[in-house]
Amino acid sequence: ATPMAIMVGTGLGAQHGILIKDAAALEESVKLDVIIFDKTGTLTLGEPKVVQVTPAAGFDEAMILTTAAALERGSEHHIAKAVLERAKTLPVLAASGFESFGGKGLRATVEGKTVLSGNRMLMADNGVDLGELAAESERLQGAGRTVVHIARDGHVIGLIAVADAVRPTAKATIRRLQELGVKVAMITGDNLGTAQRIAGELSIDIVLADVLPGDKAAKVKELQAQGQKVGMVGDGVNDAPALTQADVGFAIGAGTDVAIESADVVLMRSDPADVVKAIELSRATLRKMH
Ligand code: ADP
Ligand code: MG
Repeated sequence: ATPMAIMVGTGLGAQHGILIKDAAALEESVKLDVIIFDKTGTLTLGEPKVVQVTPAAGFDEAMILTTAAALERGSEHHIAKAVLERAKTLPVLAASGFESFGGKGLRATVEGKTVLSGNRMLMADNGVDLGELAAESERLQGAGRTVVHIARDGHVIGLIAVADAVRPTAKATIRRLQELGVKVAMITGDNLGTAQRIAGELSIDIVLADVLPGDKAAKVKELQAQGQKVGMVGDGVNDAPALTQADVGFAIGAGTDVAIESADVVLMRSDPADVVKAIELSRATLRKMH
């Protein structure tokens, strides 16, 4: 690759809000076999909203939300923001002894009772049976919702369903990549039911769900071990090691600083469609050099 062509290529990228930090990324990105997209904040807007609150018998919506909010006040997660927004007009309960379980949820003491807020893995780890709400939890996940289970003293007292809209350009981006001969995967800490529903809507080839934050990079490595060149697109702190491990890491510009630092390419407009633009630009640049 001639330095001149690379300079022109990176300059053109910058004009489109595509910052290529590493010239080698330009040459690598045309060779990618598979591109893994993080779900939350990358394929989706990352601004989830509470869409349903389902109390167990003997509880009401306000009790579920105040209990959940007591826990979520101790979290920075996008799910926490959604719960706190929905509970903002309700009384505040004090919580103590916060514990956070990455990719699963939270535990704390509220009014002398052990309270949990999180996914099925968190419930299972704490020996909590979903009881009468098991079927509704399953149904909501199948509908593409992220389900936050609220438990108190070993019993689920309610569910909070959260939905995060898919970015408008996601579907066309995935189709375009497939036309270019690139396989598309989605990776998430969210459960398989929710992930499969969203992946189905977007016609994604490979679904990697229930992946704990520390395991995303290992999934990239697994695909590389099969001889594939892997691109990774992400926004979160969780995604940083996977962005580093990937042959080309693309960070969403509106994402976290760590993700941006770990990436080879930064998509300043936070539009997944710019992954396609980056690849097309690289192809055009390399064509000029040969
Ligand atoms: P993603 O890969 O989609 O960004 P995370 O790894 O951050 O997801 O979280 C995975 C799952 O863990 C979430 O979908 C949610 O079910 C659960 N979870 C994580 N943090 C919280 C929280 N603060 N409250 C409730 N549930 C949580
Ligand atoms: Mg994310």
